[in-house]
Amino acid sequence: MEIEIQLTDRPIAENILPPRQPGAVGAWLEFRGVVRGEENGRTIRAIEYEAYPEMAGREIRRLLQEISARHPCRTAKVIHRVGVIPVGETAIYVGVASPHRGEAIALLAEFMDRLKQDVPIWKRRAIADGARLCAEHQPQRPSNVQAAAAGSATTAALRSLDEARAEIHSHSRSLPVVRASLAEALGRVLRETICAPEDLPPVDRSTRDGYAIRADDASKTFSVVDTIHAADWKPRQLKSGEAVRVATGAALPCGGLRVVMQEHVKRDGDKLHVVRRENSTNVRLRGEEVRQGQPLVSAGTKLNAGALAILATVGNVNPLVSPRLRILHFTTGNEIVTPDQTPKPGQIRDSNSILIRSLLQNFPCDVEQGHLPENFAAAMSEIAARKPGIENADVLLVSGGASVGEKDFTRALLERLGFEIVFSQINLRPGRPLIFGVNGSRVAFGLPGNPLSHFVCFHFAVATALAGLTGGEPPEFLRGQLAEKLDDKPCPRETLWPARLEWNDATPRLRLLAWASSGDITCLTAAKVLVRVPANCASLDDGTTVDFLPVMSMIGGG
Ligand code: AMP
Ligand code: MG
Repeated sequence: MEIEIQLTDRPIAENILPPRQPGAVGAWLEFRGVVRGEENGRTIRAIEYEAYPEMAGREIRRLLQEISARHPCRTAKVIHRVGVIPVGETAIYVGVASPHRGEAIALLAEFMDRLKQDVPIWKRRAIADGARLCAEHQPQRPSNVQAAAAGSATTAALRSLDEARAEIHSHSRSLPVVRASLAEALGRVLRETICAPEDLPPVDRSTRDGYAIRADDASKTFSVVDTIHAADWKPRQLKSGEAVRVATGAALPCGGLRVVMQEHVKRDGDKLHVVRRENSTNVRLRGEEVRQGQPLVSAGTKLNAGALAILATVGNVNPLVSPRLRILHFTTGNEIVTPDQTPKPGQIRDSNSILIRSLLQNFPCDVEQGHLPENFAAAMSEIAARKPGIENADVLLVSGGASVGEKDFTRALLERLGFEIVFSQINLRPGRPLIFGVNGSRVAFGLPGNPLSHFVCFHFAVATALAGLTGGEPPEFLRGQLAEKLDDKPCPRETLWPARLEWNDATPRLRLLAWASSGDITCLTAAKVLVRVPANCASLDDGTTVDFLPVMSMIGGG
């Protein structure tokens, strides 16, 4: 079948001539999809369509070829308009010629059904009644088709690192809170402030195995009048010359006591002789740790082992916390093979899946991972087949395909899945082609495939979103000093540079590690921080103050 495809930002002609194939053609079927003046119950004046032109063209051709195998036709001509299309004008034109009308009708019907689903052309927005259509209708760029490949006017702008972090933070709103048992709460963000329900400790307690006597009692010998074990509660007033045998942790019988260690007494039956008194009273006083009602663990704290132990101490066994995140991660690229395979020339082992899975250990989450084929429609089907589905995921991560190469479809994929793209590039090295999108409370990232870029983008971008979704603190840059001079070629982008962390008294000293390219992860075993090197900065002296981001470690929950 002869196929002709056009994507254009100009109006589609009113009259399109049928193909010149006299004798071979018995049916010439034309279809026009026209912009309706109503969408979801509201009046609109136009719709803006966007496309990845090369990819859209390729997918339309593939679709037509596939359908024409079942319904053979002579020719098919498809013209899709992109950009702002006013109500009443043609968004898509399809002309099909065949010897008999049946094939043409069948091919057209199936093609139109599949077009929406399989081809990366999407409605960017509906322009409502009252909007300034004329201004919006002005071509914003010389060629809409070219511009579509580079992203829309608003999202194509390179974001600075700080702008990107701020946008991610403001779009990642905290998810509804849940109650979790202490055993399930490690690494979650506490969403309520826990106050002390009583004084801690609630009574005076002994810190030693020994003998409690009145603190003001100067006697040398005492009568042992009782024994108090750790589990006992035996309140009584002590008189001068009286002592009570106490175990470590035992609740003292009254206030105003001190405990003499058992190593510092001689005991004979009920008689006790104090050989030595320590300076310390060996008593944990009631309320000396915290008073009733004072905050113990603040909302926003990421619960580590210590915080959980505090909650256990005060009996808060079902704290209000962030939910466990549901994360879907897909790799892309036909060159990718699993790590256990031997790559053929041109192939490369997948290191990003384990990288992402391991970094995500810092956030309580359920991770589903998969690989997407390099065909847009097949990739969409793969995502649709996922259980639990994309609609149940809080975060979607796609590795690779984030740039503008002809096979890079991550942006189109995210848009087709309903994500609004907030930005698609940042002024950062490594990691420039980073896509960030939002769909309601869900967020998505298209991460540059190179593993070092992946690592860097996870730390400043994905971690910021995960903090936002869980109501936690986003990762913050700290201050340190370079441990040696930096000599590099100036780069117009800011760099997040992997480095070791050393200490000079209390000052972090940062020793930059060598990395050859954004695909080079050989420095990552040693990297403990990412140092922020300003744009266009060819050299920095030893001792220069710089900002750095700590690298995540699973120990301590992040
Ligand atoms: P892309 O972002 O898809 O253009 O990929 C950039 C580079 O990263 C290419 O050299 C890819 O082969 C490589 N790459 C993509 N995905 C992975 C992965 N999962 N593991 C390792 N390298 C990858
Ligand atoms: Mg790729």
